[in-house]
This record gives sequence, structure tokens and C-alpha cells, in this order.
Amino acid sequence: MTTTTRRVLVVGNGMAGARLAEELRRRDPDAERLTVTVVGEEPHAAYNRVLLSTVVAGGITTRDTRLKPEGWWESRRVDVVRGSVVTAVDVTARTATLTTAGGERVERWDELVLATGSVPFVPPIEGVDAGRLASGRQPGVVAFRTVDDCDRITVATESASHAVVLGGGLLGLEAARGLLARGVEVTVVHPQAHPMDRQLDADGGAVLTRVLSGLGARLVLGRRVVAHRPASDDRPPTVALDDGSELRADLLVVAAGVRPRTELARAAGLVVRRGVVVDDHLATSAAHVHALGECAEHRGEVPGLVQPGWDQARVLADRLSGADAGARYEGTPTLTRLKARDIDLASMGRVDVDVHDAGHEVLAFTDPVRGRYAKLVLRHDRLVGAILLGVGDAAGPLTQLYDTAAVVPRDRLALMLGRAVTRGSAPEQVNLAEMPGGAVVCRCNTVTKAAVVAAHRDGADTVAAVAERTRATTGCGSCRGAVEGLCAWLRSAEPDRGAGEPVQQPERPAAHHLDQRPTDDTTAPTEGAA
Ligand SMILES: Cc1cc2nc3c(=O)[nH]c(=O)nc-3n(C[C@H](O)[C@H](O)[C@H](O)COP(=O)(O)OP(=O)(O)OC[C@H]3O[C@@H](n4cnc5c(N)ncnc54)[C@H](O)[C@@H]3O)c2cc1C
Repeated sequence: MTTTTRRVLVVGNGMAGARLAEELRRRDPDAERLTVTVVGEEPHAAYNRVLLSTVVAGGITTRDTRLKPEGWWESRRVDVVRGSVVTAVDVTARTATLTTAGGERVERWDELVLATGSVPFVPPIEGVDAGRLASGRQPGVVAFRTVDDCDRITVATESASHAVVLGGGLLGLEAARGLLARGVEVTVVHPQAHPMDRQLDADGGAVLTRVLSGLGARLVLGRRVVAHRPASDDRPPTVALDDGSELRADLLVVAAGVRPRTELARAAGLVVRRGVVVDDHLATSAAHVHALGECAEHRGEVPGLVQPGWDQARVLADRLSGADAGARYEGTPTLTRLKARDIDLASMGRVDVDVHDAGHEVLAFTDPVRGRYAKLVLRHDRLVGAILLGVGDAAGPLTQLYDTAAVVPRDRLALMLGRAVTRGSAPEQVNLAEMPGGAVVCRCNTVTKAAVVAAHRDGADTVAAVAERTRATTGCGSCRGAVEGLCAWLRSAEPDRGAGEPVQQPERPAAHHLDQRPTDDTTAPTEGAA
């Protein structure tokens, strides 16, 4: 009997596109049902963009960000075409035009997947050309999106003493923290009244401003950069602000947000709003054309985080491979975490609720002098939103309550302190035995405690083995401490257990912080990372 092999063409070799290819091969390892081709504009092997902030901070090199080792894609029969742009698709003829420096070629496909991601938004600034910036040809000015941008920033810090970061969102602050760590004086210019205004309310923003100032960053709020002035004979390079003032800027880092990359979809006649519109099947308006990741708009949302794209990749792989033709993507709850050394900040769900809102119960704790702020938003006794700044150990249990939508304890003070999910153990720590199986340990990859336990039962007794099996720790890496804790707990519970035997609960389980912060700058996901 002959089986027909369908050709899947993925446009974009970024985090979502590469993950889709991997998921497809998991379901069709011998390429019996699907041929998979991934076309990427960037010349590099697929890399973990989330880790670029850690590169700027000096924790790792760009080489460390590669998603897979040399030869991995070839050995899995994934055809990766690097340094090639898909410049046109014909959704009727089912063809795509690939353009490289050497010329054009046309590829046929049966299923097309758009995973074109986003591009940095560059606001109008006199003296800055968005096209030149995108290609790295704007001296003294760099965006913060690609591995090449990252290299430009790190090279610039060798001679720059003053940097201006345009944008006080997550990416801007992560860039600023990294530059400070490299000994550069940093001013963050942000048009809103407080940094991270999409994730924080005014009080939380005020505390964060103090924390950043304490770390040496200068913040200029409520102002815009309107011009970039390169160095002249007698004066250093500067930027001009909309109030007429000037700041020295040996380096200007533009981190003003991102825009989904939709030009290819528009030209092909697909329905595009903010992103390429997809339904719960990740289908676009054209038959056999799908979209995922940051270029896709699902139920009116365009993700700015990696977890939705990776969740979508699983669903789409199920559908395209036939593993589960009815699989649906219904959304991903967002949790944003700042990956900046010495700042412990997470924001999740609804935070824009007033303390006196009649439909919600809001708890707040403010300790600006010590850089601490917590706001919990409850509805029907469940945690539906939170800002957690500098509250360290409470963050793990509270994140767990948010993820599992469990009923919170009646003692609201205990809840604030993160004692909600711990009974009979140190209040500031999560009791691993009592942590529900559904608690998400690795957010980037949506890996639950139950999945880690199952992997352990199958013989994965080290962090590396659990990562190989479940992918936990392979996103931003912030869950490494939690996975190490789980592995240690499982080992101590059953030191002599053979693979496949049930896990016993230890009499005195070791406790471990679920979302333990690492000692360096490798932390967790950010919402709308820009
Ligand atoms: C510095 C930084 C830190 C971040 N930190 C976090 C974090 O902590 N947590 C988190 O969840 N998210 C974070 N993000 C966001 C996260 O990286 C993105 O959500 C994720 O990369 C989106 O994946 P994607 O595949 O949709 O897009 P991308 O990763 O951008 O990949 C899209 C790829 O498609 C290519 N492409 C586009 N058009 C074409 C074409 N026509 N032909 C060929 N190739 C094309 C692009 O060149 C690109 O390589 C961060 C982002 C940055 C920049």
C-alpha cells in the first residue's frame, strides 16, 4: 500500500516555526506522512530569542542560545533553508517563492504555515531610518530583536559609556539592566507615567521606578525621543527629547514594542487585522494555510510571549500529522516575568482593577523603601490577577494558585504571604508533595508537575533527562531550580525505585520553591516582551 506524503512548508525559522517542525517530527519521526521544510530569513540556526536578554547581561553567549545542536534538524529529516525569504505565496496554486542573494526558486506545498513573528516598532525619530536600523546599518542605534542586534549591542558597549534605551517595557528594562551590568550609564526614556505600564498599575510602577533607580538606571518618564544626533567634531552623540532636552547617547537601543509581521499574508489575500487572523484550528482564511506565534491573531489576541506559540505548535502538529485531527487551541493564560538581575517581578492576568472595584476583591501591599509591592486580584475566591514585585518566596505559591484557579484560603493575610498552598511546611516554600499535579512548573513549555513525575517514572531522573523528555527548562530556564527540586524530591522519595514503578509520597518531603529565581539573569517569560 502506498501512502501519500504531504508537503508542509513553514515560513519562519523562529521559536514557533522551529517548534512546529520538531512537534511534527515527534508525531511522524520517519517522515512517512509529512515532508517538512522550514524557511528562515535569518542566516543562523534556530535560536532561543528569549535568552537574548541574558546574552546582553553577559550571562551566556549567542552560541548558547541555539535551540538544537549541530546536525539535529538534518538527522530528524527537517529541511531547513536558512538566509532565504519567502517573498510571495500563491494560495490557489499552492506555491511559495523563496528569494536569496543567489536568486529565486518556487516551492510547492500542500500545507503552508506562517510563523513570521514580529518586527521591532520604530517610532518616528529624526535621524533614524527604520529600514537601515533593521539591517544594522544605522550607526549608534540598535533594535533589540535578533541575535545580530544582540551582537551589535555587546560590541557597542565596548566603547559606549552612555546609553539611552527607548522604551520602559519589559525588553527595554531587560536591555537597560544588561547594559548596567556591562558598566554603561543608562537612561530609559518611556512615554508613559511609569515603566511596564502594560503589566503594572501606578503604585507597582512607582515601586519599580525606585528599584531601577537604586540599581543605577535613570528613568525619564512621560517623554519621547524625537531626534538622534550623531557625534560631531566637538560633541558626543545625543538624543533630543520632546521637551527640548538632550541626553548623551553613545548607543541608542530601540525597544518600543513589536508589530506582527503580516506583509506576506496580506499580499496573499489572507484576512489580517493586527495579526494574521486564525481560528481555534490555527487556520487562516485560506484553505491549507495556517499561522502561529507572534504573527497570528487568535480570538483578538496577538501573543508577545513564547508560550502561546509553543502551545499552538502542539495543536497544529496534532492536526497536520493526523495525530489528533480535532485538536483545538483555546488560548494560553499569560504570565509575564522580568528577566533582570536583582529585580524579582511577575505580573499575571488582570491587574488593572481598582482596590474598590465592586466585582473583585483586591489585596495590596506596598513597601517602597524595600522595593516590595504585591497586588492580588480575586474573583469568586480565585486569583485572577497579580503583581508580585520583590516578594520572592510568595511568588511561587501565588503563581500556582493563578495557574490552577484553586479556591484561595480564607485568611487573606496568609494568602498575601504565599502560605496558600502550604500545609505543614515552611510557609514561604511550596511543599512538593502537596503541590497539585496540574501546577505548571515550566511555563514556556506548559509542563506540569504531573508531567515531570511521569517522566521520572519513565526513568528520567536528572534535570537533563527530564528536559529531554518534557522540554521543561528549555525556554527561558527560570524553572530550572524547581525542576531540580522535583528531581531531588522524587529521588529522595524512592532512591532505589526502578523505572515504571509508582512514585511514593515521602513522609517528610523536601520543600522547594516552585518558581525559584536563579542566581544569574536567566529568568522567566515576559508578556508582550517588548
Ligand atoms: C530580547 C527578547 C527577550 C524576550 N524574552 C521573552 C521571555 O522572557 N519570555 C517570553 O515568553 N517571550 C520573550 N520574548 C518574546 C519571544 O521571543 C517571542 O514571543 C517568540 O520569539 C515568538 O516566536 P515566533 O516564532 O512567533 O517569532 P520569531 O521568534 O520572531 O521568529 C520569526 C522568524 O521568522 C522569520 N521570517 C519572518 N518573515 C519571513 C519570511 N517571509 N521568510 C522567511 N523567514 C521569515 C524571521 O526572520 C524570524 O526569524 C523575548 C523577545 C526578545 C526579542
